[in-house]
Amino acid sequence: MPKQEPRGWLREICLMGIVAVMVISGAILVKQGRKMDLFKPGPGVKQIKHLSDYYGELKGSSGDTPVFILEGEQPGGTTLVVGGTHPPEITGIIVATLLIENAVVSKGRLIVIPRANNSAASFIPSRGRFTGTPAGYTLTNKHGEDRYFRIGERVSNPVDQWPDPEYYCTNSGPLCLEGREGRNLNRSYPGNSKGTFTEKVAWGIMELIRKENVAVSYDIHEAGIGSRLAGLLVANPVQKENGISALELATMATMELEMQEVTMRPERSSEAFRGLSHREWGDYTQTFSFLSETENPEWSRTRLYDALSLDSEFPLKERVGRVIRTVVAVIDSFSMTFPDREVIVEGMPEYEEIMTNGVSYYLN
Ligand SMILES: [Zn+2]
Repeated sequence: MPKQEPRGWLREICLMGIVAVMVISGAILVKQGRKMDLFKPGPGVKQIKHLSDYYGELKGSSGDTPVFILEGEQPGGTTLVVGGTHPPEITGIIVATLLIENAVVSKGRLIVIPRANNSAASFIPSRGRFTGTPAGYTLTNKHGEDRYFRIGERVSNPVDQWPDPEYYCTNSGPLCLEGREGRNLNRSYPGNSKGTFTEKVAWGIMELIRKENVAVSYDIHEAGIGSRLAGLLVANPVQKENGISALELATMATMELEMQEVTMRPERSSEAFRGLSHREWGDYTQTFSFLSETENPEWSRTRLYDALSLDSEFPLKERVGRVIRTVVAVIDSFSMTFPDREVIVEGMPEYEEIMTNGVSYYLN
């Protein structure tokens, strides 16, 4: 008996050591998991709100997210740009960041939500476990400072919404998808104030569109290279004013883009595929709604992690440049059609400037 005591002590010390290592590495992982991108607002930002200002139930939850308001001296219409609905489609968050940090609005308002599904951004990519996909990446700005951006996942973190049902049926129509899609913000519109976590986030964005009387709403996405979706500017044909819908505005915008040698193709949003922003924002509110898709090499999984690559056919700067010009062209087409609610956004680089200088040059 006395001989066994030292072994007992030894075992206890070993166990305590193992527990301590597990706790410390767990804490490091949690800290990494929570490290979020920071935004450095430029002179155009007049106010910073949160989604919970529009739907209070989100307050204190990871569904809450910052909302940046850029406002001109002259009154005009209100526009909304949303990034990070699907955080790994990184062009969305980068375009939103460049708007927050560079745009100056001289007339009307531009509201920017850079990280629409904040919970999905906090989720370390499951594919990363096998391929080494990091939780985030760093871009170095022109002052030599590192800026960190999350990659996240396409759906809300299971910490916030679990378990998944066998099927998820959208709120707005008879479309049932695999259960995991219940955590997809872009299947959860028009939202539900009494629904799931993700449906509540969708509800918060709908409330913002209604309460701020948003005239033009734009959701930024990406698709795989070769996907039919890549290069589309999808627009809602239902919401009309003076007989004009978002689809006509999208057609005008893509013609304007052609003159800048930027190619995007207008597309009518499907009536059968429900729960998507461009569909439900337009069907359930007063807004003209748009969604664009650019080519993200990462989605094609041709290489390990390629979304940032500079040598691919569609480097980040190309996608960001194209979407910035598309956002501005959509706002311009609305302003030309409805001059009583004109919105003038200045300070954003031209496509060729972004191709020359790169994305990092425009980060604060
Ligand atoms: Zn998407």
